[in-house]
Amino acid sequence: MNKIEDFLTSDYIYLPYKKEYNIFYKDKDYIYKNDLIASNGEDFIYSNVSGILLGIATVNNNKYFVIENDFKDKLREKKGTKRNINKYSKEDLINLLKKYNKFKDIDTNSKVLIVSGISEYIDEITYPTLIKNYTTEILDTIDALIEILNIKKCFFSITTKDQECVNILFNNLGTYPKIDLKLFNSNYSIGNKYILIDKLTNYKNKNYGIIYYTISDILDIYNILRKNIVPSVNYITLSGNLLKYSKVIRIKNGTNLDDLLKYYNIKENSIFINGLLNGFKINNNNFILDKNVKSIFINTEKKYNTYDCINCGLCKKSCPVNINPKYMYFHNNKKSKEYKMKCVNCGICEFVCPSKIDLRGVYNDKK
Ligand code: SF4
Ligand code: SF4
Repeated sequence: MNKIEDFLTSDYIYLPYKKEYNIFYKDKDYIYKNDLIASNGEDFIYSNVSGILLGIATVNNNKYFVIENDFKDKLREKKGTKRNINKYSKEDLINLLKKYNKFKDIDTNSKVLIVSGISEYIDEITYPTLIKNYTTEILDTIDALIEILNIKKCFFSITTKDQECVNILFNNLGTYPKIDLKLFNSNYSIGNKYILIDKLTNYKNKNYGIIYYTISDILDIYNILRKNIVPSVNYITLSGNLLKYSKVIRIKNGTNLDDLLKYYNIKENSIFINGLLNGFKINNNNFILDKNVKSIFINTEKKYNTYDCINCGLCKKSCPVNINPKYMYFHNNKKSKEYKMKCVNCGICEFVCPSKIDLRGVYNDKK
């Protein structure tokens, strides 16, 4: 079974700063873990370490609160651990999830729960690794959500690619009859939230309201329900042809990539965040790894020449949402804008294009 490696020793943690938010601490204040640093009433920024708030810094044009980690993880008040995570009332559960940003834009009367164990980005191994390492915690949490929120239908989706993961779930699901395991052959584009929801639900139950969580969300929710503190870590796939093998690492949210690369002694590199196809390349290792980062690919640099379109039609044939990437690239009119709105930024069109046209780059420019 793939083990998860820890990198939790970053001296400085960077948490998002937003100008319009109320800020509850000032520079040089001592911050406890789980202290609410800033909020706009709907979004809450908590500290995930204890230490000194040094101030606000700009990294890659984004602003962050910088906390000097004292590695004590001190809490302002001691919190007990809840043994039975299914013993919350519906109201208490929703309030707790809202408090930690895990129940945003969700209809409280939703009756369908979709849990995705399918990565959005190709070659990521995070979700199957989490399923294998935390099977009981994940299934118990899904079961508790079904029970407390009175969910009528729960789909748990994975791909058949990782057979060990499939076997583990089949061996454990007997005790969770309300969880409907859905297996998919392909693991690409099906990991996109909207494509997956579309595949799993019909018109009728779409009207119910749908709650969608990934496996990482479920693990965060498990920790929230057990400990009533902010989820402080993120699980990321570290991969690429400069590494011997792919691994899943556990890091504190807000770690600087540069610290991680130094820890693994990685120097020359070409780094992609969130997949080689639909991710983006970074030019500066001072990049903050927040919750939106799912994978880091470290590769030797490859350069391609681009050529004129040869009208082969491969991009259109491959597009999972049935739009014409070539049209989107070469036009700027109502139709191309409609295509842009439908595009899920998967990158397949670019991958298959024999002329190596930067179709996704144009998509990003137009956005
Ligand atoms: S246009 Fe390209 S990037 Fe967009 S959904 Fe289609 S294949 Fe994916
Ligand atoms: S795949 Fe590339 S070369 Fe072929 S039609 Fe699309 S843009 Fe043109």
